[in-house]
Amino acid sequence: MPLSGLDIFKLLPKTNCKDCGFPTCLAFAMQLAAGKVELEKCPHVSDQAKESLSEASQPPVLKVEIGVGESMFKVGEETVLFRHDRTFVNPNAFAVLINDNEGDSEIEKKVNAVNNLKYERVGQTLELNAIFIKNTSNNKDTFLKIAEKISSMTAKPLIFSSADKDTLKTVLSLYKDRKPLIHAIDSSNIDDLLNPVKESGCPVAVRARSFDEISSLTEKLRSSQIKSIIIDIGNRSLKEDFFNQITMRRAAIVKKDRLFGYPTIVFPCDMTDDPLKEALAASVFVTKYASIIVLSNAEPYNVFPLLVYRQNIYTDPRKPMAVEQKIYEINNPGPDSPVLLTTNFSLTYFIISGEIDSSKVPSWLIVMDVEGQSVLTAWAAGKFVPELIANYIKKSGIEQKANSKEIIIPGYVAQLQGELEDELGDGWKVVVGPREAGDVTKFLKNYKSG
Ligand code: SF4
Repeated sequence: MPLSGLDIFKLLPKTNCKDCGFPTCLAFAMQLAAGKVELEKCPHVSDQAKESLSEASQPPVLKVEIGVGESMFKVGEETVLFRHDRTFVNPNAFAVLINDNEGDSEIEKKVNAVNNLKYERVGQTLELNAIFIKNTSNNKDTFLKIAEKISSMTAKPLIFSSADKDTLKTVLSLYKDRKPLIHAIDSSNIDDLLNPVKESGCPVAVRARSFDEISSLTEKLRSSQIKSIIIDIGNRSLKEDFFNQITMRRAAIVKKDRLFGYPTIVFPCDMTDDPLKEALAASVFVTKYASIIVLSNAEPYNVFPLLVYRQNIYTDPRKPMAVEQKIYEINNPGPDSPVLLTTNFSLTYFIISGEIDSSKVPSWLIVMDVEGQSVLTAWAAGKFVPELIANYIKKSGIEQKANSKEIIIPGYVAQLQGELEDELGDGWKVVVGPREAGDVTKFLKNYKSG
């Protein structure tokens, strides 16, 4: 069991120096016990105390890494039940199921689809994370042949799933350098698989139908120093697995039960034959609280909405997504190209720059740092106001790039026009652009400076 606030307090220096940002060591200890602060915030903890406190300073849901190299993904490290309490940390992974009895061409099609499915959205790359290879044939040779074929076609992390312990031992010895997830240890094979898993250093899933069984499996692995554990309590039913995910997350975070403090895996692919219902079920588990979600296919019309939804859920609500403050060149602008102004909220930037790009009108886009806020929010917060805008424009270097002293501002802040012209002085003219981004293309095509 994790340490209580008072247990932690006894190990702290008790000087109440406030260097951690808390008024007393006791206050810090309470926050550490609640998983709301990192141990590193106290620079005065002795090495001996650090060792004793390492358990308390671990997040309630432990981190697990799967795969190697650039495709490796992390899950877990979660500390809250609700995103608005702080943030969710590591986005869930999406894996695509391949049965070892599928035909060669179908397998190749799926692997290529997983490899190639990529979207750029607000500066992030959205993609699938892993391939789940299932020993549906129950034949070891068939499984090993398909595992070899798939591993040679992709650098994505692999999840090997078999009910046969000898098959799992063989894939462990063959593929341990790729750090695959081994699925799964259960009460029937734990004694045989414990040592091979420990020696390989690979993450492993534990599978059981009840919470009691899960906790006895994780306890046995923990006492063997195996910490990279994924929990599969799958009943393969949306209703029951939804309940299971919430129960385990609450046990880990609210009750601080370390035996359930691991990332989880769910299988919407086994919950329905309807791809749309499957995507809906998967979206439920993005929110609550699966770490790896196994899908039956990599069809873009099913996967894209899930990737976008995951991006939204795992965006840190404390930090607006922002782009760099600078002058962006779109469609190779020259000295006579129009100059537009906006804020550095990612979504605003990507929508406006996309509209300018599709207008094919060469343009300069000045993006001002307002701590990642949108135009109206930044204006209301006093961060996108004439004095600050004028200061930035003068420093931005636009006068060395564009001949015209004319700047197009967003239509939503038309009221800035007169005051901004006064602040800029020196012959600058401020033009009010469209209110909606969708009208930017038409506006630019008809725009004539002066
Ligand atoms: S920095 Fe450490 S010693 Fe100082 S008040 Fe915080 S917990 Fe106590």
